[in-house]
Amino acid sequence: MPSVISTDVLIVGAGVAGLWLNARLRRQGFSTVLVENATLGGGQSVKSQGIIHGGAKYALHGALTGASEAIADMPRRWREALAGSGELDLSGVRVLSEAHYLWSPGTLAGNLTSFFASKAVRGRVDQVKGDDLPPALQDRRFKGKVYRLAELVVDVPSVIERLAELGGDGLLAGQHIEPLLEGNKLVGLRVDGREIRAQRIVLSAGGGTAALLTDLGLSKPAMQKRPLHMIIAKGPSLKPLYAHCLGGGTKPRITVTTHPAADGNWVWYMGGDIAEADGVARTPDEQIATAQKELAQLLPWIDMSQTQWATLRVDRAEPLQSGLTRPDNAFVFEEGRLMVGWPTKLALAPDFADRVINSLERDGIRPIATEPLPELPKPALGVPAWEQLLP
Ligand SMILES: Cc1cc2nc3c(=O)[nH]c(=O)nc-3n(C[C@H](O)[C@H](O)[C@H](O)COP(=O)(O)OP(=O)(O)OC[C@H]3O[C@@H](n4cnc5c(N)ncnc54)[C@H](O)[C@@H]3O)c2cc1C
Repeated sequence: MPSVISTDVLIVGAGVAGLWLNARLRRQGFSTVLVENATLGGGQSVKSQGIIHGGAKYALHGALTGASEAIADMPRRWREALAGSGELDLSGVRVLSEAHYLWSPGTLAGNLTSFFASKAVRGRVDQVKGDDLPPALQDRRFKGKVYRLAELVVDVPSVIERLAELGGDGLLAGQHIEPLLEGNKLVGLRVDGREIRAQRIVLSAGGGTAALLTDLGLSKPAMQKRPLHMIIAKGPSLKPLYAHCLGGGTKPRITVTTHPAADGNWVWYMGGDIAEADGVARTPDEQIATAQKELAQLLPWIDMSQTQWATLRVDRAEPLQSGLTRPDNAFVFEEGRLMVGWPTKLALAPDFADRVINSLERDGIRPIATEPLPELPKPALGVPAWEQLLP
């Protein structure tokens, strides 16, 4: 019979939200256990594009309402952590690009006028030309306008690996989770038969949260899944590009980020409007053909003849919103010892941790568990989709 564990905070779900929170709590002296039933970061986090948004994209359609939105501060918080001087020491994590770019292929679209006037981007957007253009756009045939946004792009697998290191001995590979009740109050969880008692229990299980709540006999909070059909291209002629390409509408027509593959090639990972509703309805072959056509039109100087293609269907998991809109703050629901939430963006992992830590402070929860943890089976790191789909 495995031993009983007492910890301060028990977290379920080791994506960026659970891992970031876990590392912050440990730094503050709390004991923690973080349970994962698959791989570390392998849910949405390692499948994300790694853009540390400051909200510029959302200013395009007026959804960013100003100072109240936590997202505007996220690039600074990540930069400080990456420099080793912030709330966590993420020095050593790979930054893929110091900036993300906005790229308007033709003449300046009308919607950009209000965009540049908006408070969210004022003073944070510079036009770039010539040698300062992203490498993939440096061609004499390139006609569009490009703006540099103060938003960085991180290599998510290396973020997850570092956060896992900061998680120390508290990471637990566990499959079967049941509630641990006293009276009818939740006081912990039983993980693969082992009792884990905690002052607070946090569920950060991404798309798995609804099923986990059901297993625990709970029905709140409600969540939504927003399906995406992403496109992956890998080949020797691809050069780094981190950009939202604007179309006529309020959403980027295509968002390209570039990631290192294990074989030394670059991978273009493409989302944005192309991966949403119409993209979700397309078959993988149709989705690839659509992307090929878009790229041939936008970047005709790039030779795609040796490029390999794949698509990835993945859901974004969020609290239920009216009309499947996008939330711009992390979300945490509380009931008794239980907290349940979603960062809603990789970039917002610090905001998710703040919300949990603020709740602990408000309730006077302090580190009390002192027993060393037994040796726990550790979950493996999540692997990028291109290594699985285009090995
Ligand atoms: C294609 C795509 C691109 C994106 N691009 C960006 C971007 O560029 N910038 C940005 O800021 N955001 C982006 N996002 C959003 C971002 O990825 C997510 O908001 C963020 O990763 C969510 O983190 P999480 O820890 O809540 O969830 P996840 O990373 O999904 O982690 C949840 C974890 O919980 C585990 N789990 C589930 N059920 C259980 C259970 N019963 N027991 C134990 N463990 C369980 C899962 O295995 C998983 O590891 C993107 C999302 C997608 C899908």
